[in-house]
Amino acid sequence: MTTGAQPAPPRGLYLHVPFCRSLCPYCDFVVVAGAAAFGPRSRMGGYLTAIEREIDLRAKLMDAQFGSLGSANRMPLETLYLGGGTPSLLPTDRLASLIERIRDRFGLTPDAEVTLEANPGVDERGDLAGVAQAGVTRLSVGVQVMDTTALRALGRRHTPDDVVATIAAARAAGFASLSMDLLADLPDLPFDAWAASLDAAIALAPDHLSVYALTLSLGPDEAGDDRLATPAGAVAWRERAAAAQDEERGALELEHLNSRLPAAGYNWYEISNWATAGHESRHNTLYWERASVAAVGPGAHAFDGVTRRWNSANLDAWEGALQQGELPPGGESQIESDAARAAEGLVLALRMSRGVERDAAVREGFSEVLAWGEANGLLAPHPSDASRIQLTLRGRLLSNELFSRIV
Ligand code: SF4
Repeated sequence: MTTGAQPAPPRGLYLHVPFCRSLCPYCDFVVVAGAAAFGPRSRMGGYLTAIEREIDLRAKLMDAQFGSLGSANRMPLETLYLGGGTPSLLPTDRLASLIERIRDRFGLTPDAEVTLEANPGVDERGDLAGVAQAGVTRLSVGVQVMDTTALRALGRRHTPDDVVATIAAARAAGFASLSMDLLADLPDLPFDAWAASLDAAIALAPDHLSVYALTLSLGPDEAGDDRLATPAGAVAWRERAAAAQDEERGALELEHLNSRLPAAGYNWYEISNWATAGHESRHNTLYWERASVAAVGPGAHAFDGVTRRWNSANLDAWEGALQQGELPPGGESQIESDAARAAEGLVLALRMSRGVERDAAVREGFSEVLAWGEANGLLAPHPSDASRIQLTLRGRLLSNELFSRIV
């Protein structure tokens, strides 16, 4: 049974930039690298023309569905997120015109959060002063680890010194918020070296830290779309790396984060994210709240509150359609029942430190799983609001076990 949930106009927009200098062997993002990303055979020019067309076409659809920008039902975007790939490879003048185009077609609130992902390598980080001038307010830096040997083992191009230089350049450019992405459970990296890397990252005083365990997909086509097959060399690398990961060491690292980051002034607000006050990612919070987020670019995923839609991850297919003035191919799916929607909402809400209102979750039929979670130490009352329930540290470690009982 459904209650007829209605599509909503987007509050955020995700724009995918699929170019990287080189391909990291663990990466599952939609990326083209090497000659396709840089130099005389770069596909950047064709991509930029196509993405402008997609912005225009998607905005036209919004106008038809929800009314034109400025009408009662069509508020300007609160967030824009340029992710990749390596969006810091975009030429600064084209970045500025892309943001202007989005402001013109979708609107951006005066205090909109505009995030750009940047890599720290000297030939990857771009002109950060120009990026800030183009309207980016938040820089998300792909640090991964502050350890030269571990970076090299991951196939990354940058060094810890490059990270220091990138953060200094970002501070000088005046971004309102700086975030770093770090990895945990790295193959062969002893706990002490990983903890020292965390300290080196904290010493640079980012406003926000995302820390994800390295996940290595070993089988083909796990993403379920038409992205390029993982190169054989990367598959072999992943098999070796997976054997050198250590679940217990990974758990120890999460426990360490739980004490080290609050001591340094960071609050955990989502299962893998910590921020100083006021620096939580507004864009990612839209996803965790199941809000409507539009998306453009190859492989980009959108949600309108009812339907999930995704673009072809194949750059040729995506670009070819847009060259013809058509929307790119892709797919869509809907969660049909209220029960499935409620379950997805509960899982996403439990990822966040504010957790869920216990009575509301009980009314939706989740009393049994909540009781199981509490009995097994995965859930506990929220320390500052007893009417809410949140994941414990153990719950964050074993969240998949809990979530698989909900959905
Ligand atoms: S830089 Fe990031 S997006 Fe690019 S290949 Fe490496 S992990 Fe993937």
